[in-house]
Amino acid sequence: MKTLKIAIQKSGRLNDKSVELLKNCGLSFENYKSSLISPVSNFPLEILFLRDDDIPEYVQDGIADLGIVGENVIEETEVAVSYLQRLGFGKCSLKIAITNNSDITDIQGLNGKSIATTYPVILGKFLAKQNIDADIRTISGSVEISPGLGLSDAICDLVSTGGTLKSNGLKPFADVMSSEAVLIGSKGSENDDLIQELIQRIQSVLRAKETKYVVLNVEKANLPGILKLLPGVKSPSVLPLAEEGWVAVHTVIPERDFWGRISQLKQAGAQGIVVMPIEKIIL
Ligand code: ATP
Ligand code: MG
Repeated sequence: MKTLKIAIQKSGRLNDKSVELLKNCGLSFENYKSSLISPVSNFPLEILFLRDDDIPEYVQDGIADLGIVGENVIEETEVAVSYLQRLGFGKCSLKIAITNNSDITDIQGLNGKSIATTYPVILGKFLAKQNIDADIRTISGSVEISPGLGLSDAICDLVSTGGTLKSNGLKPFADVMSSEAVLIGSKGSENDDLIQELIQRIQSVLRAKETKYVVLNVEKANLPGILKLLPGVKSPSVLPLAEEGWVAVHTVIPERDFWGRISQLKQAGAQGIVVMPIEKIIL
């Protein structure tokens, strides 16, 4: 049987969540920090630990069949790979930022200015689309200090909370792209049975993450009102309790509706509400 290879970031912002996702898929492996390759003992898969910048090309060239990497890195390296699944972590945006005292007021104001970035390809395409002629200064890191050093008028960098911009006297000015971690595969890999199985495992973990298992007790008379508030995976289960006239309702609800729904349930007579995480949802 052939063995697949998946490339993930060796260390950095995506490493922990990538490892956690694969472990939640039931894959058993050692997260060796010192080794570049780790075999999975219960699935025909090997994990390659790489710099994130190298992952798109490894996957494009078929050295790895799969990879987990930020969309920003894929766009920047301009590789031909298949997008298999968005993963919901590593969310950030690539933004142009200017100094707090900058005289630039609108996007056309970037004409003739210099912008420091580690993303020259994405920034170049963005500026071309807006018909802006700016000087892109490609540097390899610590972009946010370049306006303070007089190296550029603006920067284009990844932002999640905006804290780094603020502490360097910068403010966000224009959104270039938003990004999250995605699973990519070599072209055509989506037709592989083993890869399909892995994608299905990942999807069942992601679905479970978005939902909670809720159990609550309610007097039978209040049951119709409660059921209206609970659109479950199918319909909720209703089980009799030892106490006459009471039932337990079991259901699965989306995390995003969670708090609003809980207070409505209480108002409708729900008691003893227990909320539990779900490991996997297999449809
Ligand atoms: P490597 O050593 O693997 O090259 P790196 O320093 O290039 O790592 P990290 O800073 O670990 O990369 O970021 C990895 C990815 O995490 C980014 O490419 C991006 O997709 C995502 N990310 C999420 N939030 C942020 C953020 N605030 N700043 C930078 N990257 C972020
Ligand atoms: Mg990198």
